[in-house]
Parts: sequence; structure tokens; C-alpha cells
Amino acid sequence: MKKTDLVCTHCEKIFLITEVYPRCDICNEPLEVKKAAKGRIKEGNTFTQTILERYEDFFPFKGIEEDICLHEGFTPLINSSSLAAELGVKEIHLKNETGNPTWSFKDRGTSAGIQHALKLGYKKIGTVSSGNMAASIAAYGAKAGLKTFILVSADLPPEKLNPIAIYNPALIRVQGDYGNLYYESLKIGQKQGIYFINSDVPFRVEGSKTIAFEICEQLGFAVPDYVVVPTSSGGNLRGIIKGFEEFRLCGLIDKIPRIICAQARGCAAIYNAHSNNHETISRVENPDTIAHAIENPLPPSGNEILRKLRANDWISVAVTDEEIIRAQKRLAGEGIFGQPAAAVPLAAVRQLAGNGVIKSRDTIVLIVTGGGLKYTAAFERHDLKVADCRIEELSEFMR
Ligand SMILES: *Cc1c(COP(=O)(O)O)cnc(C)c1O
Ligand SMILES: [Zn+2]
Repeated sequence: MKKTDLVCTHCEKIFLITEVYPRCDICNEPLEVKKAAKGRIKEGNTFTQTILERYEDFFPFKGIEEDICLHEGFTPLINSSSLAAELGVKEIHLKNETGNPTWSFKDRGTSAGIQHALKLGYKKIGTVSSGNMAASIAAYGAKAGLKTFILVSADLPPEKLNPIAIYNPALIRVQGDYGNLYYESLKIGQKQGIYFINSDVPFRVEGSKTIAFEICEQLGFAVPDYVVVPTSSGGNLRGIIKGFEEFRLCGLIDKIPRIICAQARGCAAIYNAHSNNHETISRVENPDTIAHAIENPLPPSGNEILRKLRANDWISVAVTDEEIIRAQKRLAGEGIFGQPAAAVPLAAVRQLAGNGVIKSRDTIVLIVTGGGLKYTAAFERHDLKVADCRIEELSEFMR
């Protein structure tokens, strides 16, 4: 590892980068790798490069192990002039993360996390997740040949288990409080030498930085006015913010975009605290939303996101399931099939444009975080049409 440290996002206590400290032992807030203040983008061909290689200056790794990645990232940024016209803004760009190896942005953080685990000599990895992160860790664990533990809740149905089980990890249904499992797994991991790459651990956040890096490159370093991120644990949003901050520190951009933290109304711990001016987040009792990928009732990076939102006068929004379903349909109208959570940014922007918060001069990037085939139950919420016809009448029918 390069010479740098982990630092607590709250009390700024310093921790060794060569150890695994998922949380601060003083305030229990998340840690992060110290911001890179010097660096440039490596030249090269993104068909053959990996994200960790292209942005190596911004990672604390000394040399990159390439054989363990699945070429995550380098996802398209798609301009939609029709969405921009419809919402009355200057430009809308869709960062399509559904094109990742396991169909969500999680692969970026998984890759960075495994890189760190290997540098530290770990032979076992794990995560706590029932969805995209579980599939991502299981896939990358398989590719890297590491013993891989996936802890899921006891009641997970087979249609969600199987897309994880296919990679053949040690898949364990755990009875008991699922919320506690995040902290329990980190403790067990420290004792037993298992590197848990949970939702907002420092190196998962490092991986998410590359979303910001790519957006900067794709827009020719013209910083958008807003970036809208569907937020659950807060790990991805922290990474995206950190990416923009590092590019600014390194002189690659001159400002950072305003951030919109988008949540589902049925599980909006960060939005609730932000809009009620609370100092810290509170657990959402009985979370209920169709956007299961963002259904964390007590986001482990929630307080840190809250601090950032307040310090920068940024925005948080909560959208209803109805708004989410409508946005999912509208995204499909752009040729992009995201899962409900991935449609939350579009729903959020529609709300903010309606309220006049977002203006006609604004350029907006929406993070479409994961693919729609991951959650086919959402089909039932759409009025999907199909016609029937006999072959003899087909020509007449199609006229
Ligand atoms: C994990 C996930 C999110 C939320 O990301 P956090 O880092 O937990 O805030 C949003 N959308 C999709 C599709 C996800 O898989
Ligand atoms: Zn601390």
C-alpha cells in the first residue's frame, strides 16, 4: 500500500491503511481513505485497462492485481434530450450502471475491496446483503478464487437466493436481527481473518469514486450542476462525492456538482432527518418500498451523508412507490431497464423540477444504479401490453 491513512469521517481519528477497521472505535462512524490530493488520469485504452489502473493515482494501492477483476465500470453516460425537454432542464445524462458484470455499480466497490483484501494477505472475503452486493461479492470471490461468505436474512426467497448461489459461495441464511448482522459480521471478520466488504466500508467507497471520475471524463470536465444518487447505506454517494472532491483537489475540475440524495418515501432515514433538521438519523420502523435495493432502515453512513448535506446546502428528496414505478417506465422509454431503485433519481428530479428547485439552465446526471431483470416482481406494477393475432390476419392487423 502507498503511504496514507484511514481517517474517521466524524472525529478525524487516524487509522492504519494496512489493517481492516470498518468503523471508528471512538464514535462508531465510518472511516475513509485520506483524500488523494495529487494525481492524474493514466492514458490508455479502456477496452484493455481496468478502472483501478486508469485511476491508479487516486487509489492507495502500490501496483494493481489485474487478474481478479471482471472489467467493471467504464459504463456509458447517455444523453437524453427528450427527458431534458420534458422536465424543462438544459441536459439530462443517464449514467448506466446496469452494464456492470453483475448488473449494478456494486462491482466497482467489490473490485477495490478485494484488491485491498489481497494486499493485506486475506484469503477469505464476505458480505451481508440479500441483493446486488451479494451477487457482486459472490461473482468476484469466484473469479479471485477466494473463500467467500455471503450472509443473508433467514426468510430470503429462492428467486433471490439462486442468483447468488450460482457463483457457489458459502451462502448462509442467518436467523436474528438483520440490522445487527452488519456490525456482527465485521466483528467476526476481524477475529477470523475474513475481509467483509460491506455496504459502506472504506474500500467500497473507494470503488464508487470511479463513477465521478468517469462522469468528469465523459462530460469533458464540464462539471454538471446536479448529480442524483439513489441512497441506502450511503456508501455509493460518499464515494461519488469523494471522487469529485479528489478531482478538484488535483486540479482536474474547478468545482463539484450539487448533490441530490434520493430516497424512497417508505424508507427514508436520511431524508427524514435532513428535512426535520435532526443532528442524526433514526431507524425507520416498518420500511416499505418497492425499491428494495435502497431499503436500509438505519443507513450506516447516514450520519455522514447528513453532515455533508448540511455543510454544503445540498438536497434530499423522497419519492413514493408510484413515482418510482412511473420513472421506471419512463426510463424504459429511453431504452434503459433499471430496477426500481435505479429509477428513483428520475422520480426525484421530476419532483424537484415541478417544485422549481431545478432550473432550465441546469445539467443533471442521474445514476441508474442497477438492472431491471434483478427484480422482475416489479412487472406486476406496470400495465404491460401485448396483442394477439392469427398469422392469416397479421398483415391486416399490422396496417
Ligand atoms: C446498493 C444499491 C443502491 C444503494 O447504494 P448505497 O451505497 O447502499 O447507498 C442503490 N441502487 C442499487 C441498484 C443498489 O444495488
Ligand atoms: Zn471517530
